[in-house]
Amino acid sequence: MDPPVADPGPTKDEGVGSKGEMDLPVANPGPVRDDGALLQCPYCDSEAMHKLAQFLLPGLAAVCVDGTTGDLFRNPSVVAVDLRQEMVDYVTQRSETFIADTLIESEVEQNAENQMPDDPYEIISIFMDDFSRTKRNIIGHVSGWLLSDSREDKIDDFVQEMDMTRFWPLERREAIAGVLLKNVDIKTKFHCPEKYEDEERLAHHKAQCSFRPVTCPNDGCRAKISVRCMQDHDAACLFKILQCEQNCEKRLLRRDMDRHCVTVCPMRPMKCPFGCDSSFPEHNLEDHCSECLQQHLLKVLQVIHKKALTADQLNDRALELEKSEERGKLAKARDARSLTNIVKDLEAKKKPPS
Ligand SMILES: [Zn+2]
Ligand SMILES: [Zn+2]
Ligand SMILES: [Zn+2]
Ligand SMILES: [Zn+2]
Repeated sequence: MDPPVADPGPTKDEGVGSKGEMDLPVANPGPVRDDGALLQCPYCDSEAMHKLAQFLLPGLAAVCVDGTTGDLFRNPSVVAVDLRQEMVDYVTQRSETFIADTLIESEVEQNAENQMPDDPYEIISIFMDDFSRTKRNIIGHVSGWLLSDSREDKIDDFVQEMDMTRFWPLERREAIAGVLLKNVDIKTKFHCPEKYEDEERLAHHKAQCSFRPVTCPNDGCRAKISVRCMQDHDAACLFKILQCEQNCEKRLLRRDMDRHCVTVCPMRPMKCPFGCDSSFPEHNLEDHCSECLQQHLLKVLQVIHKKALTADQLNDRALELEKSEERGKLAKARDARSLTNIVKDLEAKKKPPS
């Protein structure tokens, strides 16, 4: 394990991320000693951290695009390095004072409901919005621009560009996201608050910390999840293998379930192709065609003969065909058109040559 980073001075006791160095924090900041020289467990909710980290890139892209639109001499990639540093500093600093600010605020407005959300993602979004507002140039302030499709496209393109060039790799963003998460996690829902006197005890705790990240065991899923959230993840993981929801024999990935159930699943419900009222699992079509042959024949005969025959005559003919030695052939027809053709053929053969 990395040794804890030395604290720059007695005035700064919190704020893992902004130690004053210009370098961005690296992944895995390691344990940190607080005032009482206790070692804090470094783990936090992996999914929440990942979600925050994902969000930092489009957040930065938006700031860079808004700040350079209409500027002939600068484009987003020129300003990205500086704005990244500024944004990280700004958001980290806001996050560091967040809990203190919130406490003061709630004291001032005794009864008033606290305005601030407690979802870290929402809190950081507010900080990012505040930051981006200060960076917009003239065009960025023109009302239509912020809602325009071309802005969205430019941001998407720039996100892709930064992704491809690994300008701000995910691991680095996750390290920052972890720091932000801890700073604003006022209810300690998203990070582990445990502290220990020495490395040994901390290591012992870390091995069983409920926030420790594990990789999802489902084949193909690479998500890192805190142990405590594993059950929830598993209940939604797209790579989980499940029994078909319509109870056919098949076992398949959750992400393929919907498509399977409406396309190839033999248990998918279908309506009778001859227009009976019943619906049944697709694989029962054969049985249904055999069981209800007489009704199907009647429907087909009604169409063939229109009003030339009485209801009784039609019934008799349907019964006759159903009992004939051609029954097997008739029952194999899977739709009205093919049954009609077979019936017409049989009736033509039966007619005495005139
Ligand atoms: Zn822990
Ligand atoms: Zn998974
Ligand atoms: Zn199925
Ligand atoms: Zn039917």
